[in-house]
Amino acid sequence: MEKNNGIKYKSISLPRLNNLKPNIESTALKLMEEAGELAQIIGKFRGLNGEKFEMTEKEVIEKMSEELLDVAQVAVSMMFVLEETYNVDIEEKVQQHIQKLIRKKYIRE
Ligand SMILES: [Mg+2]
Repeated sequence: MEKNNGIKYKSISLPRLNNLKPNIESTALKLMEEAGELAQIIGKFRGLNGEKFEMTEKEVIEKMSEELLDVAQVAVSMMFVLEETYNVDIEEKVQQHIQKLIRKKYIRE
């Protein structure tokens, strides 16, 4: 998606997991676990040119995408915890986050 300032945005919509009772600790721990799984598959991708081929590049990329979404899902779950338990305004935080990216010159307006 592209807003009229020329900056591209990726919008994804992930559900609140209503069959779990997440809290700060459980989501933070899960986030690290999922980040570890992502790191592991990236390690496999790096090793693709080595001797062993247990997965094709396509399979590794597919798995990488799945693990990345696991990371995003846990991040979203943690956002729900911050909103619902600690009254954090995530929309406001998103705007502050974008301003920070501009300030750090990671994006230009
Ligand atoms: Mg995973």
